[in-house]
Amino acid sequence: MTVHALSAPSLVDRIKTTLVGLRMPRALEIVDVIVRQLERGETTALEAIDSLLMEELTLRETRRVKTALVMARLSTLKTLAGFDFSFQPSLDRGRIMALAELKFIDRSEAVHFVGPPGTGKSHLGVALGVEAVRAGRSVHFITLADLIDALARAEREGSLRQKIRFYARFALLIVDEIGYQPVVPGGGNLFFQLVNARYERGAMILTSNRGFAEWGEVFGGPVVATALLDRLLHHAVVVQIEGASYRLRQHADLVPDHIRSKALIHPPSAPVILPQKRRGRPRKAADTTPSTASPLPLNSVT
Ligand code: ADP
Ligand code: MG
Repeated sequence: MTVHALSAPSLVDRIKTTLVGLRMPRALEIVDVIVRQLERGETTALEAIDSLLMEELTLRETRRVKTALVMARLSTLKTLAGFDFSFQPSLDRGRIMALAELKFIDRSEAVHFVGPPGTGKSHLGVALGVEAVRAGRSVHFITLADLIDALARAEREGSLRQKIRFYARFALLIVDEIGYQPVVPGGGNLFFQLVNARYERGAMILTSNRGFAEWGEVFGGPVVATALLDRLLHHAVVVQIEGASYRLRQHADLVPDHIRSKALIHPPSAPVILPQKRRGRPRKAADTTPSTASPLPLNSVT
């Protein structure tokens, strides 16, 4: 087939009709440009086929990811690329990047992010969820309070089994904000039923500002907490973040000392010399050069 034959109006028209039939809008959009390139000898026939198909695939992939992110209730604003590891030296970047390879999903493991408020637990949970969506895995993000709310409502309406099946079918379920408030009575049991349904069948990411020893208080008793931890720590990765609150990084001077000592608002990479009070504009995290020496024990910075 000559280039001349390809560019004959009837043949190009037929290609366009075919692209419409195949629902390939991006290819349809660029077919004229590609034909012109062919006519001018700027591209080979194989390259032309390749660009037509690649453009269409890229469009589909972008749309798929966008829809899947909305369905999963994830926001692309929180990505691994947007996470400043230098602000959180207690966090092993390599470990997070290994998690981003998503083997933990294949192994149906539970990943726990544990640490004080503002240390990036939710950010990392969402970011790993975004990676999983990009890789074509089914993901769902929900706070513990909303999850228990949904399960309790389903129980009242006699549809608990279906609801558990719904939450059990995602390859990755991200449960955010464990421990910010105690669950409603019976909530621990409902959560346990879901965790049990997913156990060794699906992966989870859990974020919590409370240590495991405090789960009894969170879930309304040691029995349900022990049963939960039995499942959730069996095949588990625990990432403890010990650092400062990213939210408060620019307002260190406004926070009273007694709170500061608990909340660790100074970035751990901040200079060690802190005796004299800084005046004027508070130093931004980005202004501080990460220490190349071994990281300080975090509480020595406050
Ligand atoms: P947590 O869930 O631990 O309370 P978040 O993940 O919600 O904290 O973080 C609080 C805010 O600070 C979010 O907007 C998050 O994107 C941002 N953030 C936290 N840590 C970092 C970091 N190391 N780099 C960039 N942004 C961060
Ligand atoms: Mg959070």
